[in-house]
Amino acid sequence: MSQDDDEHLKFLRIALEEAKRCVPIPTAFCVGCVLTARYPADSSPVVLATGYSRELPGNTHAEANALSKARSLSTEELCKLLPAPPDTLNVEDLLSSADMYTTMEPCSVRTSGLAPCADATIAARIRRCFIGVGEPDDFVKCEGAQKLRAAGVEVIWINGLEQECLEVARRGH
Ligand SMILES: [Zn+2]
Repeated sequence: MSQDDDEHLKFLRIALEEAKRCVPIPTAFCVGCVLTARYPADSSPVVLATGYSRELPGNTHAEANALSKARSLSTEELCKLLPAPPDTLNVEDLLSSADMYTTMEPCSVRTSGLAPCADATIAARIRRCFIGVGEPDDFVKCEGAQKLRAAGVEVIWINGLEQECLEVARRGH
């Protein structure tokens, strides 16, 4: 296993810890998400924000929550995260070079009226999306990975934590 693989697993494990913080409900999964960014580009990635299902009010999803938490960081908070922050710092610029780690494939359909996470991820111009496990057809047919790829987001399936991601996701079912 390469050093990069180790790093990706490390961030997916953090996402898994987030997923364990979800309050389980029978009608949705427990998912965790981590957003990482690097600035300057050759520095080590830092965690920009984390999120989990229903963390923010409403039937919210992990990926959307991580994105909104990243966007709610103040410039001062953002600067503290980065080893060498630039003079002007825009969270949208950081997001456009950010990586997402999610324990389960981002959703492509939402019945609640909120934007699907795949769409939110594309809109934020996230660079790469690392996924722990595909979404099973328990509720809807998910085409998140396909949608991301079609929009130019690099999708990477991480090997090794599929069972754990799925078990945590299905808590309460
Ligand atoms: Zn979602």
